[in-house]
Amino acid sequence: MARIVQKFGGTSVGDIARIQNVARRVKAEVDRGNQVAVVVSAMSGVTNQLVDYCNKIAPDVAPDYDQREYDAVVATGECVTSGLLAIALQQLGLQARSWAGWQIPIATDGAHGKARIASIDGAEIVRSMESGHVAVVAGFQGLGPDNRISTLGRGGSDTTAVALAAAVKADRCDIYTDVDGVYTTDPRIVSAARKLDKITYEEMLEMASLGAKVLQTRSVEMAMKHRVRVQVLSSFTDQPGTLVCDEEEIVEQELVSGVAYSRDEAKVTLVGVQDQPGVAAGIFGPLADANINVDMIVQNASSDGTTDLTFTTSRSELERAVKVVKENMKVPHRSISTDKAVAKVSVIGVGMRSHAGVAQTMFKALADKGINIHIISTSEIKVSVLISEEYTELAIRALHTAYGLDAAA
Ligand code: ASP
Ligand code: MG
Repeated sequence: MARIVQKFGGTSVGDIARIQNVARRVKAEVDRGNQVAVVVSAMSGVTNQLVDYCNKIAPDVAPDYDQREYDAVVATGECVTSGLLAIALQQLGLQARSWAGWQIPIATDGAHGKARIASIDGAEIVRSMESGHVAVVAGFQGLGPDNRISTLGRGGSDTTAVALAAAVKADRCDIYTDVDGVYTTDPRIVSAARKLDKITYEEMLEMASLGAKVLQTRSVEMAMKHRVRVQVLSSFTDQPGTLVCDEEEIVEQELVSGVAYSRDEAKVTLVGVQDQPGVAAGIFGPLADANINVDMIVQNASSDGTTDLTFTTSRSELERAVKVVKENMKVPHRSISTDKAVAKVSVIGVGMRSHAGVAQTMFKALADKGINIHIISTSEIKVSVLISEEYTELAIRALHTAYGLDAAA
């Protein structure tokens, strides 16, 4: 007997027939003798609709209206699905009930709209599972310290599921979604992309934060921290998915596991900045205070006592970033330029830790295609390059081939 948390995303519960299909999957797990809790998302499109309502009721201030009320509105989507699935399970003869975040409770911090889970009391859910009931938990929501409903940011049901799995010490957390696993790269771009049987937490974290939108990044952080084994699979097929797990569980580790990309990138260059102590702090401090995520940073010293400083941020934050920089630039500089037509392409693999030459393979593959690199950044298990957006697909295909990731034809 195993203890399993299953999570079903918006498309998996997109209409009544699909919720009934989910109910059958839950029943199959119960019939195998397993203890089951389920986390659900809102039916597909519902959260967007609810967000839209909020924006329309206060168009002059949107989206800066009372975030506590935003949470009160958007959290309802998951409540609907949890109740409907509980009824569908009862129809199949199972004992089931719905749980809203506050009933468990799932305690969060007070950052309404993008709250973080602070703690989960798993006791009630464990009792429920042990007595053969199926707990159907509304994802994406919790209870803030102000005793008001909070939500975890878009895609947050994944995080609910993993956090719940950790709290009840589940053997596995199965995340059912509209893709059947994690691929070496986006199959829409590379038809020879392969589904991975297993991937490490570290790699998945890079993939998730680099734009492979399979799992919410925070859910992977949570899984890594609590060592929750997460399986990503489809609710529409019976194929095994991809297991996100510890490195030790993976026998044959590839050098590079995947090629990820993000088009949500923009580049800001501060030209001819006076080269003196405190310049970087004076630029990036205010950006951090304004909650603007800065990703890649390069600084080039020149011989005339000035320097060029380039950084990247997400496209949606570009205007705000430029405004913050302009307002806070205390040192002399010649100009500020921006570029939105850029993309970031990354190769990821824990195997890089122990092998040399991985970056060189990347640079050569890009050079062979005549693709110019604007910025390079590396971590222990990743090499990223910023390139002109028009070459994104060409770069991904070239790299997928260069690292031997293409499926045999
Ligand atoms: N329903 C929420 C969203 O669309 C949370 C989720 O689906 O994970 O972002
Ligand atoms: Mg999702």
